[in-house]
Amino acid sequence: MKFVGAHVSASGGVDNAPLNAMKIGAKAFALFTKNQRQWVAKPLEDKMIESFKVNLEKSGILPKHILPHDSYLINLGHPEVEKLDKSREAFIDELERCEQLGLELLNFHPGSHLVKVGKRDPEYHEKIIEAELNCLDVIAQSLNIAIEATKGSKVKLVIENTAGQGTNLGYKFEHLAHIIDKVEDKSRVGVCLDTCHTFTSGYDLRTREAYEKTMDEFERIVGFKYLAGMHINDSKPKLGSRVDRHHSLGQGEIGWDAFKFIMNDSRMDDIPLILETIDNTIWDREIEELYNLVEN
Ligand SMILES: [Zn+2]
Ligand SMILES: [Zn+2]
Repeated sequence: MKFVGAHVSASGGVDNAPLNAMKIGAKAFALFTKNQRQWVAKPLEDKMIESFKVNLEKSGILPKHILPHDSYLINLGHPEVEKLDKSREAFIDELERCEQLGLELLNFHPGSHLVKVGKRDPEYHEKIIEAELNCLDVIAQSLNIAIEATKGSKVKLVIENTAGQGTNLGYKFEHLAHIIDKVEDKSRVGVCLDTCHTFTSGYDLRTREAYEKTMDEFERIVGFKYLAGMHINDSKPKLGSRVDRHHSLGQGEIGWDAFKFIMNDSRMDDIPLILETIDNTIWDREIEELYNLVEN
């Protein structure tokens, strides 16, 4: 069975998120548990936590189908110690907020190496690869620190694949595998595949053949046992452009077929499938259309 929803607003309080999910007929949702553009947030009050749980009960949505997203400011692979520490601290705070809300997942982008290498540098490729590998190790270390700091918690750290814009890591399945390989407690780590990011980082999904090839590659390099959620987005930019611009389903470069393959793929059963498409006024229809794609 599929659990489709969207990244809903939590403005006015996290307890509004389950209600917003209900309004669009969602069976899953994503949210920010704090303002995603600020470093510090005041702790969640008991009253708010209680209200969130009451509204969640009302919505009938299960914690395992909720995929909170961390702040955009966090870079778990930051090359500067001070900023890295700040990121790690903020990330641990995010994990604790999830735990307080009774949630089981926290979705994040791996990080960026921020190393500048001149395009004309004769060792351009070598230098980029070295920066990437170093950064992946720092990210894995960040995850180990966060897991250690939240020992006893069930919250899974869910690494999202990226479009590979700028110096963002996570645009190759090998990056995800590299990080997972270096995480000590693998029961605490998972992966979220964003269809737009998958596509713009160079993995095609548009035909049955292309879809199977991409998913086979994912199975071989990362493994479906780590798949903890997906972001369901069409893409404005073309295949392999490494640019991150989402589009409404069927209106971008990916097209409906890919979403039909996903909705009929049992490997995507029982995990949150989250829309981050650009027009939130049609999320209810997008959710309905996705369910209409399920063949019996
Ligand atoms: Zn995403
Ligand atoms: Zn994106």
